[in-house]
Amino acid sequence: MEAAYREAARQLAQQKRCVVLSGAGISAESGIPTFRSKGGLWEKYDPAVYASIEVFRKDPSKYWQIRGDFIRDYNRYQPNAAHRALVELEQAGIVRQIITQNIDGLHRKAGSRQVIEIHGSLREITCLQCGKQYLAPNVPDGTPPHCDCGGVLKPNTVLFGESLPPQALDSASREAQTCKTMLVIGTSAVVYPAAALPSLAKQHGARIIEVNIERAFPDADVVILEKATVAMTRLLEEIRTFIV
Ligand code: NAD
Repeated sequence: MEAAYREAARQLAQQKRCVVLSGAGISAESGIPTFRSKGGLWEKYDPAVYASIEVFRKDPSKYWQIRGDFIRDYNRYQPNAAHRALVELEQAGIVRQIITQNIDGLHRKAGSRQVIEIHGSLREITCLQCGKQYLAPNVPDGTPPHCDCGGVLKPNTVLFGESLPPQALDSASREAQTCKTMLVIGTSAVVYPAAALPSLAKQHGARIIEVNIERAFPDADVVILEKATVAMTRLLEEIRTFIV
């Protein structure tokens, strides 16, 4: 593991301007459960039933029911040491862009500026009838919550069966194709098209550094098998030895 940290730090410090792809694993230590890990949300609920746009349109209460088991209060969760390490790396010019699959808003809350939320965010909630936007936590009560106009409210996140926002997807693809290093943190790499971004980066010549508690990318060049907070704190220390 020592050698992996050294190699990852050398690559990041020398190449700079890396692109980060983050997934649910980076927020696990902030207390937000991942979906597919052991004990995750999808062991209890079928995503095809509870998180699809088709079902949401027929019976939005199903989605809002599991939302209570996932992130009940959007503002309760705080960024952890891994989110904060990425802020410092952005300020040092080592990270140029974060592409996140997370909908928890923690990268922005930590202070990262260049963030593409490819699956949207729970911060904004829209009325499907009149289009009025609500900002968490000022969401009316109810399962499902309703707008003043009586319409059902839906968070601005991408549910199964919905397309990703085209602009976010275009920007993410461009970043993947032009980076020299992609740092992939805490994703099981099964949700497409986000899961294809590391391969896209690799095809265009980038090196892939993976941080995860279990390996998800067989093609990664450097693998750090460690919890995100521990790995990113250690990696930051190691990078500092290259840049001072
Ligand atoms: P996933 O649940 O499919 O996989 C989680 C990954 O994180 C696994 O590879 C696991 O080994 C790893 N992991 C778990 N704990 C870790 C830790 N402490 N440190 C490092 N790695 C750790 O998540 P995904 O790949 O991001 O894809 C799932 C989808 O679920 C995405 O679309 C995302 O929007 C959504 N999701 C988001 C959140 C969130 O916003 N925090 C949480 C759960 C799921």
